[in-house]
Amino acid sequence: MYRVFDPFSRKPYTIDEWIKNCGNRRVGECLVCGEEVSLKADRSELRTTHFAHAAGSACPTIRDNHKPFQHLQSSEIDLENATKIKQYVVDQAFQIYEKCKLFAEDLNLREFREMISCADEFGVWKYKGLTTVYIPYILLTCREMFLKKDGGKNRTADFFFAFDPNLSSVDELWIFPEKKKQRIWKIYPGNGEFVEYPVTASFEPIPNWFEYTLTFVKEKLG
Ligand SMILES: [Zn+2]
Repeated sequence: MYRVFDPFSRKPYTIDEWIKNCGNRRVGECLVCGEEVSLKADRSELRTTHFAHAAGSACPTIRDNHKPFQHLQSSEIDLENATKIKQYVVDQAFQIYEKCKLFAEDLNLREFREMISCADEFGVWKYKGLTTVYIPYILLTCREMFLKKDGGKNRTADFFFAFDPNLSSVDELWIFPEKKKQRIWKIYPGNGEFVEYPVTASFEPIPNWFEYTLTFVKEKLG
């Protein structure tokens, strides 16, 4: 669900929640790029109410801004680290695939192999300072688009993955961990909706459908 951050209440709202809670305020912040977005067409019967970025915005939720692979570069390389990283990918290939599949519904094996080939062509493994934590996330961005037609019944639309749009190269994620959002976004270009995921080391990111039960367990035992 497309949500916008309200700087006044400091909460994210869907469009319906915004209209209900925010009175006449019309400017929020995009949860992906952090830029201002303005409420549009809320009084129109012909157009769907939506939030729009200012002209010239670089936000990846805007379809024309999708520039896959642009961030796939590194200022320095480390061949010694590359050997370790590659060995890790070989040893953990199945687990990495499983993790990627939790973000990219119905990820098929051909897609995964293509993601590996793409990362290999960019020489991702030799990026200086790369840690294993980032590997599944980089792989997810190593594909222009995950097409609905290539998935199964769980894949309801085309989508792609993007890092913080304020990132000029992927190594800034680990060089400036405080400054660059440790997040990845799954963006549905058909309607601009997105899902945000934190970058975590866990190989078992908790699927959305388990969150309620996890909260129950935490509250029960907390
Ligand atoms: Zn944005």
